[in-house]
Amino acid sequence: MESVITIPALSDNYIYLCRYYQNNVFVVDPGDARAVLKALEKHSLNLTHVLSTHRHFDHTAGIEDLKEKTGCKVLAPEKAEILHIGNVNIQVIATPGHTRDSVCYYLQPSEKHIGVIFTGDTLFIGGCGRPIECDVSIMWDSLQKIAALPDDTLIYPGHDYTEENYEFALTIEPDNKVVAEYLRAVKEWQKQSKPTVPSNIGQERATNVFLRSDDPQIKAAINMNNATDSEVFAELRRRKNIFG
Ligand SMILES: [Zn+2]
Repeated sequence: MESVITIPALSDNYIYLCRYYQNNVFVVDPGDARAVLKALEKHSLNLTHVLSTHRHFDHTAGIEDLKEKTGCKVLAPEKAEILHIGNVNIQVIATPGHTRDSVCYYLQPSEKHIGVIFTGDTLFIGGCGRPIECDVSIMWDSLQKIAALPDDTLIYPGHDYTEENYEFALTIEPDNKVVAEYLRAVKEWQKQSKPTVPSNIGQERATNVFLRSDDPQIKAAINMNNATDSEVFAELRRRKNIFG
């Protein structure tokens, strides 16, 4: 795996091109075929495979067009399995919550590259997706699977909600200097139209208020010292839904 190209699309989606061998790429969550075709042309790349993390329109709308125009193969893994594209091993991790069939794609680390995960609408930078089709406790279990990956694993989520996620985190912990510093940096990148991706697992474990539902400091901040991690997560998710 040589590189990941980030394509901002629609209002706040990210589509990713992964270059895995010479000029061959696969795409993750192509919600907009035109944006993908433009990037393929600009970088002289050949699209061979399509993956999507879940079936929502903004992650899949470009698939038919891309299939027709490039002849690429659409992979639709339904359960946890290992996909092989070129020399890259891609572990499909079932992460129900946002939808029942949401998955994340984990490109296992090798001698040549560190691990990479595409998290769709399950884990965002500084936040997480809304549990729409599943109970909030199932979403928490899914997030735990991602959080257990090595700290240096790069995270590429399906949307850019980074700024509002850090703003929300500061409503829970107004004095968190690390989050305040990340928020300041993200505002700066956005002024320069730079994407806020990727993050990594270590950074999310330290700064993502939802992943910190097991942290005594977060529990204390919302007066839930004796609650379970899952109960704390449910309360944070409830507050976030009201926040926006
Ligand atoms: Zn979605």
